[in-house]
Amino acid sequence: MSSILKSNSLRLLLVSPPGGGKGTIINKIINSNPSFLASDSPSPFIVSSGTILRNNKNNDLIKSYMESGKLVPNEIVNNLVLKEIENIDLGSDAQANKLVIFDGFPRNKEQCKFLKENLSKEKQINMVIEIDTPQKLIIDRCVNRFIHLKSGRSYNLSYNPPKVPMEDDITHEPLVQRDDDKLETVVKRLEDYNTKLKGIKEFFNEEEQKKTVLFHQVDGETSDINFTKIQAILSKYFEK
Ligand code: AMP
Repeated sequence: MSSILKSNSLRLLLVSPPGGGKGTIINKIINSNPSFLASDSPSPFIVSSGTILRNNKNNDLIKSYMESGKLVPNEIVNNLVLKEIENIDLGSDAQANKLVIFDGFPRNKEQCKFLKENLSKEKQINMVIEIDTPQKLIIDRCVNRFIHLKSGRSYNLSYNPPKVPMEDDITHEPLVQRDDDKLETVVKRLEDYNTKLKGIKEFFNEEEQKKTVLFHQVDGETSDINFTKIQAILSKYFEK
């Protein structure tokens, strides 16, 4: 049996394209009270680089990168995230099932290498799940999303349209499209993701990595389908 499967502690990297439903799935995992974690196991730990960076927005450099939608340079983000992971207290019970989810980090090959070289052994990623949401679906979802600015009410022209075209149901004010949802922005973001994903996959495909990291892919069209598939993978891991 591989040593990966013997560990009671799963350090899981979830990757998905922007708009691919990763946030929804993480919330579902937290709220589902996963049965594979015994009742005395700690709740899942979530390491979210987005949240860590938002908590450091008093740093003007971080703020400017985030507000322009660009990735924060590795030399700034790496150490902030490393510190956060090293601070997680997994407890002393080696038999208790524990789940750590890496959300948004590592996001490129260099960040993968940085973690490998700097993170203590018992916290290293030992499973990667790629949420491979069809990208045409993400584009359709974004470009058809229109919102009412003041309330944030969101409509989808295909499957949740307003009663009167381009008007908010309650105030009858006009609906607008967020800059983020414009076709060229969405396509650019997906292209950027695909390039970074290629690097991450190359890293975890190295023979050395394959000895310690399991790789899975789920490709459902909705977050509900992907959540069910991920639950099945996690249950199997903890059952072993
Ligand atoms: P997220 O909440 O994961 O969408 O991240 C929000 C923003 O934080 C991103 O648009 C980036 O500017 C920054 N960010 C989050 N994670 C990383 C990362 N691993 N590397 C660089 N920048 C990141």
